Amino acid sequence: MEYSIFLCRKCGAICASREGAATFSCTSCGKRNSAEKSLSLARGIESKAIPSLIAKLKMDYAKKQLKKHQ
Ligand SMILES: [Zn+2]
Repeated sequence: MEYSIFLCRKCGAICASREGAATFSCTSCGKRNSAEKSLSLARGIESKAIPSLIAKLKMDYAKKQLKKHQ
């Protein structure tokens, strides 16, 4: 089973969804997002790789935010 990584359209949280699923529920705010309309950060991810990938994406995002404020 492979997964895709999406951004929640409501709160911006990074969520994992089954590859090919039409919708996914945000793990942070619970919103049901349409996979088609959501920004996909990665595709074809194995489930065991998800936690480290999400951690990496969050870190990259934090670095970008930091740059904006400098
Ligand atoms: Zn959310």
